Amino acid sequence: MQQGVVMKLAASNAIAVIGTGPAGLAAACALARLGLPVTAIGAPSARRDTRTAALFAGSVTLLENLGLGETCCSLGEPIVGIRIIDAMGSWLRAPEVTFTAAEVGRTRFGYNIANSALTDALREAAKAIPTLDIVDASVTGVIPSENGVEVRLADGQTIAATLIVGADGRNSLCRQAAGIQARTWSYEQSAIACTFSHQRPHNGISTEFHRPAGPFTVVPSPGSTSSLVWVERPDEAARLAALDEAAFRSALEAGLQGLLGSVGDIGPRATFPLTGLSASPSAQHRIALVGEAVHVIPPIGAQGLNLGLRDAACLADCVADALAVGNDIGAPTVLAAYDRMRRPDIASRVWSIDLLNRTLLAQAAPIQALRGLGLHTLRSVGPLRRLAIREGLSPSFVAPRLMQPAAADAPLAP
Ligand SMILES: Cc1cc2nc3c(=O)[nH]c(=O)nc-3n(C[C@H](O)[C@H](O)[C@H](O)COP(=O)(O)OP(=O)(O)OC[C@H]3O[C@@H](n4cnc5c(N)ncnc54)[C@H](O)[C@@H]3O)c2cc1C
Repeated sequence: MQQGVVMKLAASNAIAVIGTGPAGLAAACALARLGLPVTAIGAPSARRDTRTAALFAGSVTLLENLGLGETCCSLGEPIVGIRIIDAMGSWLRAPEVTFTAAEVGRTRFGYNIANSALTDALREAAKAIPTLDIVDASVTGVIPSENGVEVRLADGQTIAATLIVGADGRNSLCRQAAGIQARTWSYEQSAIACTFSHQRPHNGISTEFHRPAGPFTVVPSPGSTSSLVWVERPDEAARLAALDEAAFRSALEAGLQGLLGSVGDIGPRATFPLTGLSASPSAQHRIALVGEAVHVIPPIGAQGLNLGLRDAACLADCVADALAVGNDIGAPTVLAAYDRMRRPDIASRVWSIDLLNRTLLAQAAPIQALRGLGLHTLRSVGPLRRLAIREGLSPSFVAPRLMQPAAADAPLAP
C-alpha cells in the first residue's frame, strides 16, 4: 500500500501492528500467516542498528516457520557454547563455566544475527505474504473504542483495526493509549555495542566476562568477527565510545585478555543506557503489547528479543484460537488469554536478569560468595547445568505453535 492513499481497512479482523522493529515485524508475519489483513506501520529510522541478537532455539524455529531458515544460516553465526569468566577481581574468584549445546543433545544453541540483517529479512518475508502491508509512517494517535481502534498517522491518514499490536518500543504510544501502567528503572550502566574482527577463531563460543561494572560479552559473528556488548558505568562508556579507533582497540584487547588474539577492524559503535521496564497487563482495550513496549531488560544472557519473539508467537496462538471459534480477535477474553500466557515468562526473565545484574554490581563479599557458589554448583552438578541450559534457551512452560518445528508445514490460511 502506497503512502498518500487513504487507508481505511475493513474493521472486521483487521490488525494494525505499530512499530516495525524485529518484534513488530515478526508479529506482523505471524498474524498475517493466519490469513488476516495486517498493516505494519513503522517510523523509518535514520540510524542503522549496531546490535546483534543471539537468538536461541525457539526463536530460530519461529524464524524457520516464517520462511527465514536460510537467513539464519546465511547471515547468522551458530553459537555452540556459552562461557562465563569471572573477572570481578575479587579474592573469591568464581570458577570458569562453559555450557555447550552438545550437553543437551543439540548442535547449536541458536544463531547470532545482526539486528539490521534480521529486520531486512523480515521485511522481505513480509512482502511475500499477500495479506500484509508495510507502511513507513509515524503514528501520532491510537484511539481505542469498544468496537475497534482508530490509528492516526503523521500525514493525517487514518487506519481502522479490530486489534492493535503495540510493538513501538520502550516509549510506546500504544501502551499509553491502552492505559497500561509501566514500572521503569535505570541501572547507572550503559552498553557499547559494535562488531569487530579478530585474529583467533571464536569457535562458535560466546564469552561473558563478569566485571564489577557489568558484563563484557563477545558473541560469535560470521567469519573471524564477533559482536561486542561492553557494559560500563555511563561516564566510562561515553569515554570509551568517544575514543579514536586505535585507543578503543587497545582498550578492547585489554578487556579480552588475549581471548581472540589481536583486534582488527572495528565497526560503528553505539551506546545504550541500561534500563528496565515491565508493563502490566500485557494487553487491554484492543491493544496487545509485544517486545520492548512491554518489557525491557539489560543485555545479559541475550534474553530481550528472544522474549519479544515469544510474545509474537503467543499472540498469534491467542488470535488463531479466537478465529477458530469465530470470536472477535480483539475481545477482552482474547487479550486476557494473551496476558496469562506471557506474564510468568516475562516476570521470571525480568526478575532473574535484574538479580544477576545487581549481583555483579554489588561488591559485598557475601553476595560475591553466593554468586561464586552458584557458578560452582552449575559447573559441577550435571542435571542442574542441563536444566539451566534448557530453561535459559526457552522456558519449558511456553510452547507457542510457531516455536514448534511442525508449524512450518501448517497451511498459511485457516
Ligand atoms: C546492547 C544490546 C544487546 C542486545 N543483545 C541481545 C541479544 O543478544 N539477544 C536478544 O534476544 N536481545 C538482545 N537485546 C535486546 C534486543 O535488542 C531488543 O529486545 C530488541 O531490539 C527490541 O525490539 P523491538 O522490536 O521490541 O523494539 P525496537 O527495535 O525498539 O522497535 C520499535 C520500533 O517502533 C517504531 N516506533 C516507535 N514509535 C513509533 C510511532 N509512534 N510510530 C511508528 N513507529 C514507531 C520505532 O521506530 C522502531 O522501529 C540487546 C539489547 C541491547 C541494548
